[in-house]
Amino acid sequence: MRTKYKQWAVDYVDEHPEIAIQKFDINDDFFQEKPVIFEIGSGKGEFIAAISLAHPEYNYLAIERVKTVAGMMCRKLVEQGNKNVKVFPWNAELIFEEIKEGFVHSIYLNFSDPWPKKKHEKRRLTFITFLDQYYRILQSKGRLYIKTDNDGLYEYTKEEIKLTKFKVISDEENYEFDADTDFITEYENKFRSVGKSIHRIILEK
Ligand code: SAH
Repeated sequence: MRTKYKQWAVDYVDEHPEIAIQKFDINDDFFQEKPVIFEIGSGKGEFIAAISLAHPEYNYLAIERVKTVAGMMCRKLVEQGNKNVKVFPWNAELIFEEIKEGFVHSIYLNFSDPWPKKKHEKRRLTFITFLDQYYRILQSKGRLYIKTDNDGLYEYTKEEIKLTKFKVISDEENYEFDADTDFITEYENKFRSVGKSIHRIILEK
């Protein structure tokens, strides 16, 4: 799904430095005061808005590289009054270097772009170099949660996981949504409403 460029949303990111991080610094109080949870590819932020509200004991970082989309997410979070979320409106690739080993509590990948062409493999958020970075930055026993509707990305991801040291906690071909422990995303809503099965993999360091 492509989101049309929206000037107000791009401006919103620039005008709200209290939520949209302009320069990533892992030493900021926000990253030091509570355990930190990442969502990479947050889209318009439905998931992060809900999970962060339910879990004030964590601080969340929502990473979304499309500025219009990140702006829509920022507005939602500001209007909802979430205090424990920040948005990084750039490519996730830019933050790993800054983050020391074992720093992150858990990571969520929800409905990542499948990038079906082989020549775009490196952009898939479950490409081996990404998985290796997630493994490095996760704390011991830290979890990586992956949900997708895309069969190709699902099968690909399982193969990539074999190249890592992650332990597979669960792998469900047709994951039944559990409102007690999980939060719906915008894409998930859309795909579930047309009867698609959702695949979910949970990994542990
Ligand atoms: N998680 C949302 C959106 C899924 S679409 C949902 O489930 O509804 C995938 C999103 O990931 C897109 O908005 C895309 O811009 C973002 N994305 C893909 N690769 C990214 C990267 N390397 N860094 C940051 N965001 C990325």
